Amino acid sequence: MRFAPWLVAIAMASSMPALAAGPAATPPKLIVAISVDQFSSDLFAEWRGKYSGGLKRMTQGVVFPGGYQSHAATETCPGHSTITSGIHPSRAGIAANDWFGMRGQKFGEIYCVEDEDVPGSTHDDYIVSLKHLSADWQTLGDRMKAVPGNQTRVFAISGKDRGAVLMAGRHADQTLWYDWRAKGFTSYASTDAAQLRADVPLLDAVNARIGQWLAKPVIPPLPAQCLAKVQPVAVGKLTIGRGAEEGPRTDTPENAAKDFRTTRALDLATLDLAENMVAANHLGQKAGTDVLAISLSATDYIGHAYGTEGPEMCGQMLSLDARLDKFFDALDRQKIDYVVALTADHGGFDAPERHAQNAYPAAGRAPMMLAAPVLSQMLAKQFGWQGSLVENRALGGDYWFTPNVPVDRRAEAAAWLKAALEAQFKGQIAGAFTKAEIALLPTPSGNPALWTLAQRIRASFVPERTGDIYIALNNGQQPAPAGIRGFVATHGSPWDYDRRVPILFWRKGMTPFEQPQPVETVDILPTLAGLVGLPIAPGSVDGRCLDLEAGPASSCP
Ligand SMILES: [Zn+2]
Repeated sequence: MRFAPWLVAIAMASSMPALAAGPAATPPKLIVAISVDQFSSDLFAEWRGKYSGGLKRMTQGVVFPGGYQSHAATETCPGHSTITSGIHPSRAGIAANDWFGMRGQKFGEIYCVEDEDVPGSTHDDYIVSLKHLSADWQTLGDRMKAVPGNQTRVFAISGKDRGAVLMAGRHADQTLWYDWRAKGFTSYASTDAAQLRADVPLLDAVNARIGQWLAKPVIPPLPAQCLAKVQPVAVGKLTIGRGAEEGPRTDTPENAAKDFRTTRALDLATLDLAENMVAANHLGQKAGTDVLAISLSATDYIGHAYGTEGPEMCGQMLSLDARLDKFFDALDRQKIDYVVALTADHGGFDAPERHAQNAYPAAGRAPMMLAAPVLSQMLAKQFGWQGSLVENRALGGDYWFTPNVPVDRRAEAAAWLKAALEAQFKGQIAGAFTKAEIALLPTPSGNPALWTLAQRIRASFVPERTGDIYIALNNGQQPAPAGIRGFVATHGSPWDYDRRVPILFWRKGMTPFEQPQPVETVDILPTLAGLVGLPIAPGSVDGRCLDLEAGPASSCP
């Protein structure tokens, strides 16, 4: 029997030994993990051809334009819990930014990185803590530090406490975040103040500068490239799209300090301090490989306050691009061999009022009839229970039963409510899911673009923290009414505009390539571990190592 020549050629090729395997290059000396809060794949696609600075550099490495924060709870806490841990929020224990449960003897809202057991603490004035994170949740920094003989140092900074502590881990050398209560950057209550100032000498100067700015804010002009985006859009009683972001409120110092976050200046200050951490501690220039985690929050605050498609976001994109350019230049000048992994904690969706003007009239806002008191009344009428029965945080998503719903009737009540909601809101919601039905599902795996809604909910499901019922809004429906200051647009849905984020890797000398198929943010930890030869026990992460070597060599074990 004779084989066709092409078949013989294929058979011979497949029997040839692999050309190369295993980590090919020397490990980098510094890993820079960056999260740009609310940097969706859609925003990246719009802007990638217009960057000229640090974000342009990131497009010249290995590009995964369709990364996934695969879970349904597309919020900052769940998202950041995946980036340097390699596990889904369900396994990390982070069901949402906030959930309802018992604060001591009182039923109330609990924040993802607070210790609600500290006497006197409240949901809004709390002690930052990682107590809600599971034992399986180990960050890259924690894993590297645990290797005997490794001299890794770990530094982290963010415009939000949750952005910093969730990328840093439990054993970081310094973890800093902007806190409006402190009117500047701060750290854990237990941090030694003298050590903090030794490690971040610029801290007091940057905080003083923020203080001066709050007293007399200077809003930078809108870059000329953004003028074409000026187009006022009414969102309830508010107007967006007028131009540069507004100055902070001046009625109280607290409001001014809160509003500082909604300006380009937040990321500039964050990167000033990140740069100072590198220089003062000679990160990337000592015995081990160091880790610097940076979560840049202004894109998120500006996205919430002004939407994603206006001149305000344009100003932010150009400002961030320019500042990251300076940041990378500073690392280059110190001749540090570093690798950057840049992604986001979740995506985002523009204000529906602008969508309507921009050829997408199907965008809208969720029915107000999905407010918790309405569900509470439905249950009261059916079951005869008294008092408030349901709590929620947004229209749609998780709804929690209060202690007024008897524990032994909860599964029954959830099943009845699901059927009632699907009948009453037929066509107005994508579906309702009970805790019991999600709990039965195995942890999803495989291509996240193909997961069902229930599978997405499962990936951020934590039995003791997830709501009793989950309402999936229709695609394109924002979970909040119009007119809330600082909140014209948001994220948090199980839809791909909130799940898809770019995942970008850059290192000097890297051969660029692009892989458009879906990958996940849980792949980042095993990928970086591959670069530094850090062993990852099989099964201890949900992601896989992405081979960053173009060609037959591999950066994975
Ligand atoms: Zn976020």
